[in-house]
Amino acid sequence: MMSFLEICSLFEKLENTSSRNDMVDILVEATRGMTSYELQVFSYLVQGRLAPMFVSAEFNLSEKGLLNALSREYGDEVFDLRKKEGDLGIVAEKLSLKTQKGLLLDFVYDELWRIVNTKGSGSVEFKYSAFIALIRQSSFLEARYLTRIILGKLRLGCSVKTLLDAFSVRISGDKSVRDLLDLAYGASADIGYISQIVAGDNPLEGLKRVTPLPGVPVLSRLVERVKTFEEVGERFKSEFAVQPKYDGLRCQIHKISSKSHTLDERVWHGRLKSAEIDMFGVVKEDVKLFTRNLEDITEMFPEIVESVRKLPVDSAILDSEIVGWDGSKFLSYQDTMTRRRKYGVEEQKSGVPVNAFVFDLMQLNGGSYLQSTTKDRFEMLGTVVKEGLDIQLSPCDFISSVSELKDLFNKYVDLGLEGVIVKDSLSTYIPGVRNFEWIKIKKSIDSDLVDTVDLVVLGYYLGSGKRSKFGIGAILGGVYNPEFERYESVTKIGTGITDEQWGGIKERLDGVGVDSVPKNVVIEKVLDPDVYVSPEVVITVDADEVSVNRSSEGVAKGLSLRFPRLVEFDRDKNPEDSTTVDELYALLPSRE
Ligand code: ATP
Repeated sequence: MMSFLEICSLFEKLENTSSRNDMVDILVEATRGMTSYELQVFSYLVQGRLAPMFVSAEFNLSEKGLLNALSREYGDEVFDLRKKEGDLGIVAEKLSLKTQKGLLLDFVYDELWRIVNTKGSGSVEFKYSAFIALIRQSSFLEARYLTRIILGKLRLGCSVKTLLDAFSVRISGDKSVRDLLDLAYGASADIGYISQIVAGDNPLEGLKRVTPLPGVPVLSRLVERVKTFEEVGERFKSEFAVQPKYDGLRCQIHKISSKSHTLDERVWHGRLKSAEIDMFGVVKEDVKLFTRNLEDITEMFPEIVESVRKLPVDSAILDSEIVGWDGSKFLSYQDTMTRRRKYGVEEQKSGVPVNAFVFDLMQLNGGSYLQSTTKDRFEMLGTVVKEGLDIQLSPCDFISSVSELKDLFNKYVDLGLEGVIVKDSLSTYIPGVRNFEWIKIKKSIDSDLVDTVDLVVLGYYLGSGKRSKFGIGAILGGVYNPEFERYESVTKIGTGITDEQWGGIKERLDGVGVDSVPKNVVIEKVLDPDVYVSPEVVITVDADEVSVNRSSEGVAKGLSLRFPRLVEFDRDKNPEDSTTVDELYALLPSRE
């Protein structure tokens, strides 16, 4: 069994590497000798997690709490050390044992789970003492990385994509297996599960066999945007499907078979102590709801859960949008989003009724529908979703002309919907992919920007004048550059934000504050903010126009926004799903 120290040395190498290709080389070399179990645990830990995103396994300990716990154990000098070093990981490293002898990986993984699983009265104290006990046994690097993992601040910049690249090279010597790995990961959203197959005897066969499993989310398929209706006609030469575009919360619905299924081969499964898994390791839940960010929202929508139970199927995975619906008309996006809460669910339920509008099918009664065409999937969906529940079937017209498309668009906009989604009728459901087989046309098509953009917050500026009392006066937003897996600054946003919002925004951003520019972030000099943040928070921004600034040092192709204003703070999105440099470039007004 590997020692945790070996894993930490690898973390340190990754931390000091900024090129993605170099990271891949390091990963291939270092993971070659790992057993299937070790590779699984490593794949979660390197993301700063104990389990995949869709499993709630949080430590729930604050930096202040950890600092106090350390001071009780090691004395008040801990506070000075914290001031000097700035990073609690380094503080813990300085206090740790000066030995080269590492802890066992298995032991550390179990101890971390023990902290996560401790709930109820007195649990916080227990968690802090378990943390201290771990630090007391740790040598230098172990203490550094344990502390950062527990704080949720590991941030090695080694994304799932980088791991998948490394797995491809491990299997074939190059990136040729990446597409297959993407499909398998897309169908399971569990990097540990994929790594276990990669380390197995016949990875290619194993990856081909990965299929959606109710209870485990599939990555949501995403949509591209176009500027005109005519462009849709050019892209789809023959028949295409048109559905209304609902403006609410993307929700993947899972009906889990009554025949118990087990997730035994996954290392997190037996360790997760929650209501979802009984003492025999069997998943108890019969319905699960996930957002596109893989967050479990089952408890927020009890009426949808009830309706799913009544569906005439043994098991299914459906793609839908939850929207406020009072029986005759749609409620606003803002009203719908008030249902996204953990507490007060019952009270809010009566004030803001919702329906799930189902538009796609990924799995039915044990069979995968990912490889079926849009037409076939929709046909089957019609047999699953029946009248009279809080789940409705989205309409879907198969047409082939732009004039019919415009008619449908106008019809849905008149009904209070956002526009339409157009889908290639022959395309399959490719998890996690965004390409022109799925296109959105929104009613803002006539406006300058065509659509809002989603930017990643890279920092903020201290307020001046009236805003000095908030300690924040504007936010720095950036776009994603997938080629280099990094975020590049675009614009300062200071409008569209109410006095009431600033406090919450500052608190959220301070929670992800960092001392210097992260290695996966590039900021143009003139936009340098007062406070840097780790690129984790996504915001939606509207503007009058995309423009190019020639003197921009080439950051984000010199693109900027004219009159940007905040539409929504902290979107349900991964930073990698935010607007890319190329997407922003495509929004430049045409110059002909
Ligand atoms: P994006 O998905 O492009 O990153 P976004 O979250 O701002 O950005 P939109 O651009 O408004 O979302 O449109 C895509 C979203 O539309 C989907 O993620 C889904 O939640 C929603 N949607 C509504 N109706 C449909 C439908 N019929 N088919 C697919 N998606 C739909």
